[in-house]
Amino acid sequence: MGIKVVKFGGSSLADANQFKKVADIIKADADRRYVVPSAPGKRFKEDDKVTDLLYKSFENAGKPEFEDVFGKIRERYSSIVKDLGIELDLDAELRDIETCILNKAGRDFAASRGEYLNAKILSKYLGYEFIDAAEVVFFNDDGTLDAEKTNSVLAERLSDTERAVIPGFYGSMPNHTIKTFSRGGSDISGAIVARAAGADVYENWTDVSGFLICDPRIVENPAPIELITYRELRELSYMGATVLHEDSIFPVKVAGIPIEIKNTNAPEDKGTRIVASCRDTNKDMTNVITGIAGKKGFSVVTLEKDMMNEEVGFGKKVLEVLSKYGLCFEHLPSGIDTMGLVLDEKKLLGIEDDLIADLFAATASDSINIENNISLVAVVGRKMRNAQGTAARVFNSLAQAGINIRLIDQGSSELNIIIGVDTKDFEEAIKAIYNEFVK
Ligand code: ASP
Repeated sequence: MGIKVVKFGGSSLADANQFKKVADIIKADADRRYVVPSAPGKRFKEDDKVTDLLYKSFENAGKPEFEDVFGKIRERYSSIVKDLGIELDLDAELRDIETCILNKAGRDFAASRGEYLNAKILSKYLGYEFIDAAEVVFFNDDGTLDAEKTNSVLAERLSDTERAVIPGFYGSMPNHTIKTFSRGGSDISGAIVARAAGADVYENWTDVSGFLICDPRIVENPAPIELITYRELRELSYMGATVLHEDSIFPVKVAGIPIEIKNTNAPEDKGTRIVASCRDTNKDMTNVITGIAGKKGFSVVTLEKDMMNEEVGFGKKVLEVLSKYGLCFEHLPSGIDTMGLVLDEKKLLGIEDDLIADLFAATASDSINIENNISLVAVVGRKMRNAQGTAARVFNSLAQAGINIRLIDQGSSELNIIIGVDTKDFEEAIKAIYNEFVK
């Protein structure tokens, strides 16, 4: 038998009806042995997420508002239990939690109870064992995850457990108090469980059918990404695509476990598969690019100096000035006698003149100027390496759309092409590239 770890997000477990879909998905494949749930999310647009209510109840402990907020939490769970028709009495648990929150048990403790209670319900409904994350996920005193202790304790525990539900989002500190990950952290819990279980795949179930090639607010109904490598994912998420959080893929990435993003409301949809590498599948050249993402808010500082190419140490002087100002550069496009520094526009506010003066003093450049309102667009794709003419197609599509390219940078890995455009052209640039490559 194989092992699949399945994580379900809040919208997948927002009410009893969603719980039923989740149970159907789990029962449809005997390999789905370890389940990591989030807390109940929104049932409709204006609804509350239980995690938000828990934070609110913590903040309102001792105030008249508390009753109302905690009542909403109680109501969410009791209606799920009732509508599922299971024999589970959460009253005592809820009373304990209420008392702890009123006695100002930690903020993280309060927030974690959303996942804790949901996991209790789901384990009962599925007939799977419940494993409290506090017993198997450990943090260090500085708040970072104790990845190795967690992995060995959890692996040991799972080796004795055929099927289990382990709540997402939290673990315990060395002093046994509860600590949560940052918001959305159940994704990390799922990846931790997948690594410890030695899973064949980590399925992350949500309410969309995987990642899209680009932002649907820019291109209407963009095509989904079926297969993506971890490195491409990093490029896209760094450039602003809302995909999985970096931390959340780390445990599975080190273990080489593929991730599948799937839709609880459309389980038959393919979703997106994230893999370490996919040499074999590169032959399919239908879409040379994997995704397009972009970020606004950059400035480009351009230094020009005759014979710059022959001056040893020019770059070093420039970088020393940047480090004096605590600035990281995003890209460094350069020509024979020019060097461009792509910098975060916000970080230059108020220091532009001093920075330029220091750069002049350090480099004796002939001219230095700053252009603001630059946006970067990243065209990412592992297949670009084997496809001639990709850059030409990108540039052509932009020219056809009447968009002026302000800078170009291609990583030596040929995994991406970065283009700088005027921010007013940002959306149009993404549309033009999408239309060129995705049929
Ligand atoms: N329930 C937590 C949150 O809303 C964690 C999660 O859903 O991943 O952030």
